[in-house]
This record gives sequence, C-alpha cells and structure tokens, in this order.
Amino acid sequence: NAPPSVREFWLASAAFAERTYQVYQDERMTYADAHRQTTAIAAWLFDQGLRPGDRVAIAMRNYPEWMLAYWACASVGIAAVGMNAWWTPDEMDYALRDSAPKVLICDAERLDRFRQCPDLAGTIPLVGVRLAEMPADVTPWADVIAHPGALPDVTVDPDSDASIFYTSGTTGFPKGAQLTHRGCVANLVNLLYAGASNAMAMERATGEAPPADPPPPVTLLTTPLFHVTANNCGAYAATALGGTLVLMYRWDAGEALRLIEREKVTGMSGVPIMAREVINHPDFAKTDTTSLLSLSGGGAQVPPDQVLEIDARVPTARPTTGYGMTETCGVITSVGGDFFTDRPDSAGPALPNFETRLVGDDGKDVAPGEAGELWVRGSSVIRGYINRPEATAEAITDGWLHTGDVARIDEDGFIYLVDRKKDIIIRGGENVSCTEVEASVYRHAAVAECCVFGVADDRMGEEIAVAVVLKSDAALDEAALQAHCAAHLARHKVPRFVRFFTDPLPRNASGKFLRRDLRDLFAGETTEA
Ligand code: ATP
Ligand code: MG
Repeated sequence: NAPPSVREFWLASAAFAERTYQVYQDERMTYADAHRQTTAIAAWLFDQGLRPGDRVAIAMRNYPEWMLAYWACASVGIAAVGMNAWWTPDEMDYALRDSAPKVLICDAERLDRFRQCPDLAGTIPLVGVRLAEMPADVTPWADVIAHPGALPDVTVDPDSDASIFYTSGTTGFPKGAQLTHRGCVANLVNLLYAGASNAMAMERATGEAPPADPPPPVTLLTTPLFHVTANNCGAYAATALGGTLVLMYRWDAGEALRLIEREKVTGMSGVPIMAREVINHPDFAKTDTTSLLSLSGGGAQVPPDQVLEIDARVPTARPTTGYGMTETCGVITSVGGDFFTDRPDSAGPALPNFETRLVGDDGKDVAPGEAGELWVRGSSVIRGYINRPEATAEAITDGWLHTGDVARIDEDGFIYLVDRKKDIIIRGGENVSCTEVEASVYRHAAVAECCVFGVADDRMGEEIAVAVVLKSDAALDEAALQAHCAAHLARHKVPRFVRFFTDPLPRNASGKFLRRDLRDLFAGETTEA
C-alpha cells in the first residue's frame, strides 16, 4: 500500500466513473469528467514548473472548479491555499504574501480584488474561472482542463501540506493552518467511523437494520470550500462513498429547500443556524424533504431545543452534530440520533483518532467532572500555522492542541462545550457562558436567532447583552425576554441588555455570528448616547 495521502484517496474515487460528482445550478459532472480534468490541471501545473511542496491559491466562490483545483493539487503534492472569498483586497494581499503561491486560480470578483493589490501585479501567474472576458495576462481555465498529458508520477509525503486553510477569524485575525495529507485522511477515517456508528445507533433505536446497500450520499454544501466543514468533511465524506456534491453560490434557506427536493439531498452540513432557517422557512411544509437522512449543524453550538425540533419535524432525518476546528482538519467529536436527543447539549464523544485532556488555568488537568480547556492529540492535528512559529508554539505543545474551548466530559466520555475561553463573560467575578444564555433565549418560541456577548461595565466589569432577531410575525420586548430567561437561569446570568434586530445578525464567511462586531456596535451605541 502507498502511504496515506489525498492523492491515493482521490485516485481511488475514479472507480465511481459515471456517477454524478458535482451539481451546480444546471451543470452536472461525473467522476470520470472530474478525473479527466484533475489530470489535465495537474499536468498543466507541472508543465508550468510547479513541483511538490509548492502552493497554488484558490480564490473563488463555491464553483465546481474549486474541488477540481484542490484534488489536482493534492494529487501531485502541491498545497492548495484556500483564499476566503469575502476577503477585501488588503486581506487578500496579506494572505498571498503570507502563503506565496506560484499560481492564483480566481473568479471575476477575486481577480478584480487582486488587481487592487498593486504591488502583486505580475508576480503570480493567474488562471481565470468563469470570466466574461479573458485579459491577456490570464490563462483561461478552459485551456488548463484541456491540457494534454498524464498525471505526473510523484510520491506524496504524508506529512506534507495538502492544504493551507485560514481559520475563520471568529476571535481574531485568521491564521494559515497547515493541514497535512495524513491529517486529512485521518479526519476522513473519523468521519466514516461517525457515519457507521450513527447508522448502528439508528438500528438500535428502530430495531431495523440499515440497508445493506445504502444509496450514495447527496450532500448539500452550504458553507465555503475554503473551510474544513464543507471541504474536509462534506466533500471528503461524499467523495469517499461515490456521492454527489450539490453546490450553492450563496446560502439561502429557500434555495436549499428547492435543492433538497430536486436533487434528493441526503445530508446538509453547515452551521446550526442554517438547519434552523430551513425548518423555520415558509416553504418547509410544502417541500419534500424525505430524502434527508441527517440534518446537521457543526462549527458552532447547536441550541439544544433545535436538536429536538429537527428530530420531531424531519422524521426521516437524524439530528447530528460535529465539533471540530481548522486545526484538526475537521471533526474532533460527532454525535447523532438517539445519542444526541438524549444529550442535546453534548457534542458527542471524541472520535477514535484523538486523546483528550481538560486543563485548568494552572496548566494541570482538572478534577474529574470539572470544566477546563480541552486539549486534543492525534494525527489530524495540523503541523502549525505558516510563518507564525510563536502562535504555533502557543497552540500546540508536545502534540497537544489547545483548542481554546472550555469543556466538560461526563462519565460516558461525552463532551460538553461550555464556551470558548475568549467568550466567557466575567460578570462581577462570576463566569457566565454565552452558550448557556443563548440556549435559554432560544427556548422562547418567538426567537429566530440570537447571540450573547459581554459588554464593559464599570460596576460589574462586564455585563451580559443579547442581540435578538424575532420570527417574522412574533412580538416580544426586553422585559418579557428577561422574565423568560429568569425562569431557568440564575439571576446573574439573565441578560441585562436586549437589542432587537430586524436584519440577520452579522456573520463571517462560515456563517458564524461575530460577537466582537456586535460588541463594537453596542459600544458605539452607548458612547454616542
Ligand atoms: P479563529 O480561530 O480564527 O478565531 P474559529 O475558531 O471560529 O476562528 P474555526 O476553525 O472555523 O475557526 O472554528 C473552530 C471553533 O468553532 C472551535 O474552536 C469551537 O469554538 C467552535 N465550534 C466548532 N464546532 C462546534 C460545536 N459543535 N459546538 C460548539 N462550538 C463549536
Ligand atoms: Mg479558532
């Protein structure tokens, strides 16, 4: 056997030949089409002089070209650099200097932004995807995928970078994480284990054996391919099983419902608020969602009531979640079905490839049952952050990744995420978890979305604030929401400030709420007043 690498994995998927691989709007491509194109792209990159260890940046929306460029690079040991499609020219400039790619593959909007990084002009060869007009200095994608030649015969070092993905920037400036081939494969093994154990849990719950020959998955990718959720989890798991990737240009719950019905989608991955928007959408009741086998949310806390609601309202689908990070190439835990509905506030047990510890502020393991920072060790932990030896040393000691997340682990090994270390509100010396307060707010039937954050306060140090968007025909005021929270939260955890918003709350590219933007907004509001 060859050493584990993304190259070997992608080459094996050629066996799915005529099955549909990607669907985007009215476009469809088979695995055979995809492999013809990835071979041509890899041959073209080699003919341009690129070699294993080099990098290629991918800067575009979720087009079918994204994964083709990615698999082509990984097949020949070239690291794919995922450029956040939302980045401004300045941010793009930073990431291009940071990662120093030898080729930039981009769509029209990203090309436009690249042109606004004046000092980079002429320094990186460009490939253009879906451009209306092809400038003279840009190689058309059509030429690249028609390039003659066989797949270059290279041996890929399992501990070399398969990709560089920037963290999603929820807590600060994104860092370029180095995901190795071994790490991406280890994450896939964990995902397949999670899928199999969820199916067995289903059998225990219903008494019915899962089908001997399950249909290949049809996965709706709702988040950007430059993050691990869509890429290393959604796309990898579907590709491993000969499944189909259904792509969306942008997230839209109504469009997601149309695609679920049209493509007979079996699973949708994304942040929890997306599953919530789907089940709350006015078209939900008239859409055929019986193809759905799981409806998941990961990458952020799933409000416990949502787990039970999915279970009740989408009878064919198991609620599932995964907890993970860019720094682990994807998942750390996973849970689904009855295991999840029995413990809707847990993210599930750690997957087989991980050892875990809970560490206190003193750097020592906490006593059993207590909460501490979760540290994990395993082959899917990243090599480090490019060009940031200090950040790497701070995040990983002796193979242990400090997740920055505070957790508890119960006697059965189920992990409960209390909060991010950076998101704990310290009010008058008491630690308050944003997640716990949000779970309480979400229990109010009028609430569509909410996000809790701390705001500076002279007396208490910090006070608790919550931003709320109500469901379309609902009414609620500050006092009523506080009374609702006071019914199941200790008094010091009840939000002192409630702000109602009519527009969706600010989110980053992966769909996570930006607490720090809300905090800034709130601070601006109080200083102006
Ligand atoms: P940055 O590190 O740049 O601030 P980020 O941490 O949001 O951004 P990601 O790697 O996309 O970047 O997200 C990982 C984090 O997301 C985890 O550390 C955790 O805080 C949160 N998370 C992921 N899955 C879950 C989950 N199921 N439940 C709760 N939190 C989750
Ligand atoms: Mg992080």
